[in-house]
Amino acid sequence: MATRVKRAFKYRFYPTDAQAAELSRTFGCVRKVYNMALAARTEAWARGERVNYNQTSAMLTAWKKTEELAYLNEVSSVPLQQALRHLQAAFANFFAKRAKYPRFKVKKKSRASAEYTSSAFRFRDGSLTLAKMADPLNIVWSRPLPEGASPSTVTVSRDCAGRWFVSLLCEDASVKPLAATDTALGIDVGLDHLLTLSTGEKIANPRHERRDRERLAKAQRELSRKARGDGANRRKARQKVAEIHARITDRRRDVLHKLTTRLVRENQTLVIEDLTVRAMVKNRSLARAISDAAWSQFRSMLEYKAHWYGREVVAVDRFFPSSKLCSHCGTLQPEMPLSVRTWTCDSCGTAHDRDVNAAKNLLAAGLAVSVCGAGVRPQRRTPGGQSAVKQKTPRREP
Ligand SMILES: [Zn+2]
Repeated sequence: MATRVKRAFKYRFYPTDAQAAELSRTFGCVRKVYNMALAARTEAWARGERVNYNQTSAMLTAWKKTEELAYLNEVSSVPLQQALRHLQAAFANFFAKRAKYPRFKVKKKSRASAEYTSSAFRFRDGSLTLAKMADPLNIVWSRPLPEGASPSTVTVSRDCAGRWFVSLLCEDASVKPLAATDTALGIDVGLDHLLTLSTGEKIANPRHERRDRERLAKAQRELSRKARGDGANRRKARQKVAEIHARITDRRRDVLHKLTTRLVRENQTLVIEDLTVRAMVKNRSLARAISDAAWSQFRSMLEYKAHWYGREVVAVDRFFPSSKLCSHCGTLQPEMPLSVRTWTCDSCGTAHDRDVNAAKNLLAAGLAVSVCGAGVRPQRRTPGGQSAVKQKTPRREP
């Protein structure tokens, strides 16, 4: 039986000058509307009130009637409405303590995007035409869309390196759940390694990441040295930072895609640590920031692929003492500074690799939750095959 899954297919495209101008104008309007609605919601929030999506939608209608905001009528209205929906979702995440307070979109420095729902584009015979445009987009179809797919939502974006992308959300009937297996895996996140698995396997950071990271730090230093008034050089320095950043992001996404597909194929239950946003904002070194971004991307890929293939992801509370607990005998060590990479348990004499031990503890905690249904906050569960979970490798070391 095939599951009905929606899947985004992302491609590069090369806009004509007219299309680029239309899209830039749309991005500007999307940003304007998003920021104005955020300001209105923030003012209300300060007064102890809440503004909902319908109210911001009414505000948009009113803004369009004013002289200074009449230009909002020149672009497709759909991306503007979608921006208000995204803001609504951002607030819902904030109220549910899943995310920080929404931030204003900053002009030109970050990725810009606009989302079109089916009333605002035409997809026919493999060509995509957006509202307010005469010609279809020149898309590089680097991989095929699924047979007979018709996109329900189209997102156009320009990244900070100036590259254009279009992402098509399609129903994909070709995704089928995999046969259930009885293996389970604990996954620990770290700085030295991208991931450490409870099987003892360590997954390294992408091969070029360390060097790219050094280049990024250097480019950022150069950018911060350029004087405010020095327009052209500053722009060049910023472009350089953006290009290196884009390269790191692309390589990491490739690595994470291969990795998550493999882990989901091999395991029925995948136990991860629930790192919340609040835990992540402290200590933002560059390495830390990149590792945090990789982790949330990893988690979301793991969760949606688990959903596709009928697997289960269990997130264990981050206050669980995974590093200090001996995974062999269960004795809690009093101290475990970050510098300690290997240690020997006082009680049972087992020698531990810090990260592997943590991954094994996560697995044990996750399985306890998965089987007993106790404690830890619920995550997206997938049907089927959760009863007889066994570890892939024996817990006892020789
Ligand atoms: Zn022990």
